[in-house]
Amino acid sequence: MSEIQPTFSFELFPPKTPEGMEKLKAQVELLNAVGPRYFSCTYGAGGSTRERTFETVAWLRGQGIDTAPHLACVGSSRGEVAEILAHYRDQGIRRVVALRGDLPSGMGAGATGDFRYANELVAFIRAEHGDWFHIEVAAYPEFHPQALNATKDLENFRRKVEAGADAAITQYFYNADAYFAFVDACAGMGLDLPVVPGIMPITNFMQLARFSDGCGTEIPRWMRRRLEAMGDDLESIRAFGHQVVLDLCRRLLAGGAPGLHFYTMNQSGPSLRLWRDLGLPGAVDGL
Ligand SMILES: Cc1cc2nc3c(=O)[nH]c(=O)nc-3n(C[C@H](O)[C@H](O)[C@H](O)COP(=O)(O)OP(=O)(O)OC[C@H]3O[C@@H](n4cnc5c(N)ncnc54)[C@H](O)[C@@H]3O)c2cc1C
Repeated sequence: MSEIQPTFSFELFPPKTPEGMEKLKAQVELLNAVGPRYFSCTYGAGGSTRERTFETVAWLRGQGIDTAPHLACVGSSRGEVAEILAHYRDQGIRRVVALRGDLPSGMGAGATGDFRYANELVAFIRAEHGDWFHIEVAAYPEFHPQALNATKDLENFRRKVEAGADAAITQYFYNADAYFAFVDACAGMGLDLPVVPGIMPITNFMQLARFSDGCGTEIPRWMRRRLEAMGDDLESIRAFGHQVVLDLCRRLLAGGAPGLHFYTMNQSGPSLRLWRDLGLPGAVDGL
């Protein structure tokens, strides 16, 4: 079973260019200075970022950083997934985030590969590697946009846990009640794994609105209206976003959340300002 200590972690995505990689290294140095439990690195479904994810993960490991690669199974064969897992195991990696993923548009039905849903990937990892990997799965307090209904989505979440997930990281949300209701529903199903809230700092309203429409996250009306009124005044958006997300994090931790997973978007500042103002351990200089 997972740690009892709260788990604070940072998520990165693999940069597209060598310049992006150099920028990321500088951001990781700042983020790592506060002592997160681990960093995770996303993976494009269908293998679209495979080499870049490998490169980023290998660099993080080379820094002695505990790293959790994401692995999205849709569009991949069992052989491809087995190869990726062996590659990570050879580097001593003990943690993965197991996902279905979304196929890039253009890759239609027939390209789905050997796995339909994330629970099949979790079962495959357990069958091939026993307890070697600590497995995190995705959770959706506001429900996955493709779920037929909330009950079926919760049943799916249970299947992932029963297949062997150790912990979950949520999709980002701005409504703490959705998280607490989700955790209560899990307890009602007899699931007692840690469900760590995924935290998305707010720095750019248009981008956030687009992401949120795609992944089913609600931006509460009062927040949307306030952010819309700020137009392109980025300073006001950031100040307001910081306060709103800080309040959310405080509520979540006070209510028993077993840690926080920050979607950094490869920028250290917004996550580190939250870290500092939450009073989490670790020195945060020069923000
Ligand atoms: C923390 C986190 C990290 C992420 N990282 C990445 C990443 O690195 N790369 C990436 O491509 N994407 C990533 N995503 C996005 C994720 O891949 C998408 O949300 C994707 O649409 C669902 O993935 P899943 O693992 O939750 O899928 P699943 O758990 O398989 O669920 C997908 C949908 O299928 C439904 N479902 C599941 N089982 C069944 C069944 N047996 N019958 C019918 N319906 C079923 C579920 O209710 C849900 O609607 C991440 C999401 C989160 C929350």
